[in-house]
Amino acid sequence: MQVLLANEYGFCFGVERAVEMVEEAVSAGDTVRALGPLIHNEQEMQRLAHEGVTTISDPIQIGRLETAVIRAHGVTPEVQKELEALAAKVVDATCPFVTRVQKLAARAAAEDRHVIVVGSPDHPEMIGVKGYAPNHAFIIKDETEVAGLPRLRNPLVVSQTTIKVKTFFDTAEAVRAKTDDNVQIINTICSATKDRQEAARALAGMVDAFYIIGGRHSSNSVKLLGVCKEQCEKSFLIETEEEINPADLDGVKTVGVTAGASTPNWLIDKIVKHLEAIGREQDAGLKP
Ligand code: SF4
Repeated sequence: MQVLLANEYGFCFGVERAVEMVEEAVSAGDTVRALGPLIHNEQEMQRLAHEGVTTISDPIQIGRLETAVIRAHGVTPEVQKELEALAAKVVDATCPFVTRVQKLAARAAAEDRHVIVVGSPDHPEMIGVKGYAPNHAFIIKDETEVAGLPRLRNPLVVSQTTIKVKTFFDTAEAVRAKTDDNVQIINTICSATKDRQEAARALAGMVDAFYIIGGRHSSNSVKLLGVCKEQCEKSFLIETEEEINPADLDGVKTVGVTAGASTPNWLIDKIVKHLEAIGREQDAGLKP
């Protein structure tokens, strides 16, 4: 049985960078506390907890001698200031792609223009971006919400980094149709999600079974499962190797593997090795 990895999988650039920044702070001897879960992966969170990294839900919980971490989603300028006032040190792990959206929003607001951000209003990234354009930003999910917007002043239209390209452009065009003012449209979608989905789709069409490694609450992992299922009926979303049922691999010649953007490499390696061991046992004709 052959185990094949998709061309793009696992940690995206922003998550990898955030984890590295946290590890650096831990190595420097800091007591590290992240504002909100650093990553949507239970196993990686447990590993970080063993290194002493804990999570707080409010800046007020940070101690004077502790290091606060801003995760890849970013925060509002107010929250950042609060952390800087309370913590010994702040590690800002905001993904540079998110920082770009924050800066664009801030600049447009400073010019007294409206900012339309296409995304989920409750998402932490959106809450942070909105904070950079106070009283100027509207977060809308899609084009159906454009009619409900007030009269717009030379709006800038940007996107949450992880939404679908079609949703963004359909919404941007609806904004353009709504106003006679100048509309500036800047696509700020990050390609990490799309690249992983395209690589998974390509591989899923060539294999007999597919394992997607990721948290059940990780939306990009659940989306990867949907993409793989379209091509390969035997597709499974798993968090650990214990969830693999060797019976599912009876008669399987090729297995595809991918992983969500929050799945660490050490976990992917462990699961690939486990699959290869099942394959060797099956090839040897042993009962798995
Ligand atoms: S998905 Fe993209 S924008 Fe979000 S953290 Fe990863 S690299 Fe950054």
